[in-house]
Amino acid sequence: MNKEWIEFKDRIKSLYGKEVVPLHEPTFNEKEIEYVTDCIKTGWVSSVGSYVTQFEESLAKFVGVNYAIAVVNGTAALHIALKIVGVEANDEVLMPSLTFIATANAVSYLNAVPHFIDVNEETLGIDPLRLENYLEAITEFRNGEIFNKETNRRIKAILPMHTFGHPCELEEIMRICEKFNLTLVEDAAESLGSYYKGKHTGSYGKVSAISFNGNKIVTTGGGGAILTNDLELASYAKHLTTTSKVPHKWEYIHDEIGYNYRMPNINAALGCAQLDKMSNFIYQKRQLTNVYTNLVNNLSNVRLFTEPSNSKSNYWLQTLVLDEALNRDEILTFLNHNGIISRPIWKPMHMLEMYKECPRMELIITESLNMRIINIPSTPVEVK
Ligand SMILES: *Cc1c(COP(=O)(O)O)cnc(C)c1O
Repeated sequence: MNKEWIEFKDRIKSLYGKEVVPLHEPTFNEKEIEYVTDCIKTGWVSSVGSYVTQFEESLAKFVGVNYAIAVVNGTAALHIALKIVGVEANDEVLMPSLTFIATANAVSYLNAVPHFIDVNEETLGIDPLRLENYLEAITEFRNGEIFNKETNRRIKAILPMHTFGHPCELEEIMRICEKFNLTLVEDAAESLGSYYKGKHTGSYGKVSAISFNGNKIVTTGGGGAILTNDLELASYAKHLTTTSKVPHKWEYIHDEIGYNYRMPNINAALGCAQLDKMSNFIYQKRQLTNVYTNLVNNLSNVRLFTEPSNSKSNYWLQTLVLDEALNRDEILTFLNHNGIISRPIWKPMHMLEMYKECPRMELIITESLNMRIINIPSTPVEVK
C-alpha cells in the first residue's frame, strides 16, 4: 500500500493509543458495575425485576414514543414488530437488500417473503424515488390492498433500515406508504440517537425495532426493543413476548402461541447504565467524525460518509466510500493485517443462497456499494 494509507493506519493507532484497534467495543465504567451488582444482590436477575420497566421507560422517553417493550435481541424485536402489524404467511415485505441478515430473517420467521429494494448513495438507505416508480409498475390494488402483479402476493409492509445510524428518507417513504397502503415498520437497530427532521428514528414507524447487541451504540449484552405509540399494539407485543400468559396469581394459562422473548432483568440493569451515557457517546462519535474527515482528506479516491441532509446521525459505524478505481479487498487486507480492524458491508441479501429467488428490483447501487464500502474503527474515544 502507498504512503497515504500507511499514514492513515498510523494516525488511527495513535488516536486510540492501541496496536490493534477493534471495530467497535462497548464502553463501561463504575456505573454498569454498580447497577449489575445491585441486580445480582436483589436476586432478580431473570424474567422479573424492576430494571426492565425502568429501562423501557427511559428508552421510550429518550426516543420520544409512548411505549418500549424490551426483548432478548433486535431480531426478536423485528419478528414481533412485523407480526403485530399483521404481516402473514405469503405476504411480501419491502426492504433494502443492503442490510444485516436479521431484517430478512425476521420476515422469513413469519413465512412471509422479503422483496428487495435498491438504496441511494446519499443515505445508504431505500431510494424513495425509484421505489415509487417501481411500485407503480409492478403493483395493483385489489379490494383496497396492494398486490404484486407478478407474484400475486399481497405487499403488506415496508421495512426500511437506517444504515450505520444514518437515517433514510422517512418523509418520502411515509408518503409512499400512504399512496400504496403499506404499513411502515422501521428497522432502527443501528440508529439509537439518530434523528430525521428533528424526530428520533424509530418514532416514524407504526412499530419499530432497536438492537442492543454488544457492538451497537448502547448494549445490554444482547437485547432489543419494540417501539410504538399505539397502546393496543404495545400491550399485544408485551403479551406475545412473555409467552402469551394470561395474568393469574398461580395458574399457567396461555391464550395463543407466544414467545419467550423477554429481556432478562440483569441485561436491563446494564442497559439502564448505558442509556444514561447516550449524549456523551454521541458527542464523542461526532468528534471522531471530525477527526476522520481530516484523515480521509489525505486519501485519494475515498470519501468519508457523512450524515444525509435533514438528519442528525449517531455515526454508529464510521464508513469509507471508495471510488470504483480502488480495490476494496486489497485495502481490507492491508488494514486488518496492520491492526486496524475494518469490515466490508454485509453481502447484499439477494446474493445469499436462501434469498436469491426473492422478488427484487434492479439493485445497481446496492451491488456497486457492496464493493466500495469499508467500516473503520468507531468506538467512542476522547479526542485530545
Ligand atoms: C444489529 C441489527 C439487528 C438486530 O440484531 P440482533 O443481533 O438480533 O440484536 C437488526 N437489523 C440490523 C440492520 C442490525 O444491524
